[in-house]
Amino acid sequence: MILHRGETAGNMLGGVTRVLKWRREKRMRLGFLGLGAMGVPMAKNLTEAGHDLAVWNRTGGREEALVEAGARRAWSPADAARDARTVVLMLADAGAVREVLFGNGGVVEGLSEGAVVIDMSTIGAADSAANAGALRELGYPMLDAPVSGSVPGAEAGTLAIMVGGEEGVLKECRSVLEVMGDRIFYLGPSGSGTRMKLVLNLIAAANLAILAEGLALGEAAGIPAERAVEVLMAGAAASKMCEIKGPKIAAGLHDPQFKLLHMVKDLYYALALGREAEKGLPIAGLVSQIYTAALHEHGEKDISAVSEVRQRPA
Ligand code: NAP
Repeated sequence: MILHRGETAGNMLGGVTRVLKWRREKRMRLGFLGLGAMGVPMAKNLTEAGHDLAVWNRTGGREEALVEAGARRAWSPADAARDARTVVLMLADAGAVREVLFGNGGVVEGLSEGAVVIDMSTIGAADSAANAGALRELGYPMLDAPVSGSVPGAEAGTLAIMVGGEEGVLKECRSVLEVMGDRIFYLGPSGSGTRMKLVLNLIAAANLAILAEGLALGEAAGIPAERAVEVLMAGAAASKMCEIKGPKIAAGLHDPQFKLLHMVKDLYYALALGREAEKGLPIAGLVSQIYTAALHEHGEKDISAVSEVRQRPA
């Protein structure tokens, strides 16, 4: 038997027993915290898959549709975590995750022996590793498991999930993750999933910024944006961003799926990761400035609103 850092033969065997037991049980008691744009559809899928879900959100009211679908309303993060096998977090940022895990009435006050925490929020890599370390000290394993696929992916249960943590713990939790996503990537120890997600969002942000700039250039040169998107999708500049956000930019409609303020946060975390890894990120610096310029006016809109900055006259 290969033991990983922080594991003992006892808790390794405990983990194996848990996997076998969990595999036998289809219906699990789960806690779900954070009912924003992503959290609601993810929690809905877990409820519809037959899990016994306790849901909590800082601002009340967001849980109502889920309660109608069979979930239980929890009154605090600790209440949601009580007796849960797995506690899933889908929160805005590192501060929110820290508060919900370790604050007054936080998750750690309710966790039972053997429970696993899965943090699916996008937070900083250092924050993620610190949370995993603090939970490990208390005896609870944590997976960082941020996602890509936005609201449509969350609704369809087709998110791409990037996982860091103990591989054995992922095995225990795989069936829960499979309800929310259809591509699960194991990246390595704690923080690895988060690091991958920050790389992904850095590339996505740069891709979208240049798409917005290109479409603005096209319009200034007499090519309507809808027509340009059609042509781009047929050629070498085609991308997922162009497919999803191109029509939103062309229509000037920025109803939020992924809020621009979250992308600003992710770019900040990516730049911090660059500093930790001693890797210069000149394009990321520029991209971050472009999104930050849009933050004040367009922070609550979709990331496609970054196009509003680019459309100002030079
Ligand atoms: P959202 O709609 O803005 O929801 C954020 C959630 O975090 C809400 O439930 C909010 O509660 C909660 N929250 C914020 N601060 C808190 C605090 N201090 N204490 C407790 N709860 C707090 O965000 P989202 O779009 O669902 O995204 C959630 C996470 O997934 C983010 O990290 C985001 O970057 C990531 N993500 C989003 C997408 C996307 O397309 N939307 C895709 C991939 C990853 P209240 O309702 O009380 O404000």
